[in-house]
Amino acid sequence: MAGSVELIQTTKLYDGHRAVDGINLKVPGGSYCCLLGPSGCGKSTTLRMIAGHEAVSDGDILLDNRNVTLLSPRQRGTAMMFQNYALFPHLSCRDNVAYGLKIAGQGKAERYRAADDMLDLVTMSGFADKLPGQLSGGQQQRIALARALICRPEVVLLDEPLSALDPFLRVRMRKELKSLQRQLGLTFIHVTHSQEEAFALADLAIVMSDGRIEQSGHPRDIFEAPRTEFVANFIGGHNVLQPNSTLLPTDLHPSFSIRADQLTIEPLDVTPPNTITRLEATIVDVEFQAQFFYVETRLDDGQTVMCYLPENRMDDALVCHGQRVALHWEKSAINLFDTRATTR
Ligand code: ADP
Ligand code: MG
Repeated sequence: MAGSVELIQTTKLYDGHRAVDGINLKVPGGSYCCLLGPSGCGKSTTLRMIAGHEAVSDGDILLDNRNVTLLSPRQRGTAMMFQNYALFPHLSCRDNVAYGLKIAGQGKAERYRAADDMLDLVTMSGFADKLPGQLSGGQQQRIALARALICRPEVVLLDEPLSALDPFLRVRMRKELKSLQRQLGLTFIHVTHSQEEAFALADLAIVMSDGRIEQSGHPRDIFEAPRTEFVANFIGGHNVLQPNSTLLPTDLHPSFSIRADQLTIEPLDVTPPNTITRLEATIVDVEFQAQFFYVETRLDDGQTVMCYLPENRMDDALVCHGQRVALHWEKSAINLFDTRATTR
């Protein structure tokens, strides 16, 4: 399928600092790929190098198996949607959307026809003559998307496209992005620092840290088996624990993770079937989170263990502040990190 992207040892140096440090990545054509990681880990730099807005210091970028490392943005068949949309404030929505075709030298009638088709696609037909300042955040986002799509790119690059929207709109717009990507069959590469957003959208999620890829794969596979301590901590919902001779089996060295939703909390004298590990702990915090309770406990060696307790399994007498309880889990709940992976 058209629109595949490949990075080979792609590196970006800023004054000797490795903002992107030799990353290797294959994004199949037609996939929704999310680059996920904390601020400063190199997501935007990676995206800008794919777009051609940033020169590559070392390594290569292939689009559809064609080496585009030295090509200008316009020669690549990619389109970028920027973090703050970067719409021209003095141009109407129609002219904003048609801008790419104007630069390409297309006549007014033709480019306006194409722009109106795009406005239709993003359900903004009624706003063609408005200025960006007259639109809400979600509407501006649709215009920015139409502007990115007008040159018929095979690869659409989106840098934190939803971060300026309020939480309600963010969820709605992410559904629209996904449905548009499916409908058009394009490759989307979407940068976000939100694990929730990446998991909701991506066929392929790339977790980055400090200029490198920590793990890539389907969100579900990443969640079920985080490869490093960094990934387990960043995606949330996992306890990273250090074994020690008194509390936890030391063959799990140097650390392992266990999902907060795979622990059970029982009274000290109850042992459920199938559990292999039992640890005593003290409950230090209980928060109601609608579908589940967030329960924070402390082991006797000081390590914190969080549990997500389904709302229908809540027992007020047992799960309350200060209570001594036993935490149980099955062997299959233990996730070992990849010892070859470097955690920095
Ligand atoms: P992210 O998008 O993941 O937040 P960036 O790709 O923007 O991260 O930045 C990665 C690193 O590169 C950061 O340390 C940042 O300070 C640095 N950086 C980004 N752009 C520049 C630049 N134009 N000049 C110098 N350093 C930069
Ligand atoms: Mg960024």
